[in-house]
Amino acid sequence: MVETITDADIGSGVEVLHRLATVVLNEHANDHGLCVVCGCAFPCERAVLAEHNPALTRS
Ligand SMILES: [Zn+2]
Repeated sequence: MVETITDADIGSGVEVLHRLATVVLNEHANDHGLCVVCGCAFPCERAVLAEHNPALTRS
């Protein structure tokens, strides 16, 4: 099956990424230098990755 990617598909994909990144950033919060979810030094890997997504999708 051939999938045709439309502008709307790309737009919603970016929107999903942006929303996911926002959720991750909200959950992985800095608690005195530690991530409240991961328990490792903040910013944790997931927070860093999420931070890059809105940066990429911002225009
Ligand atoms: Zn984390």
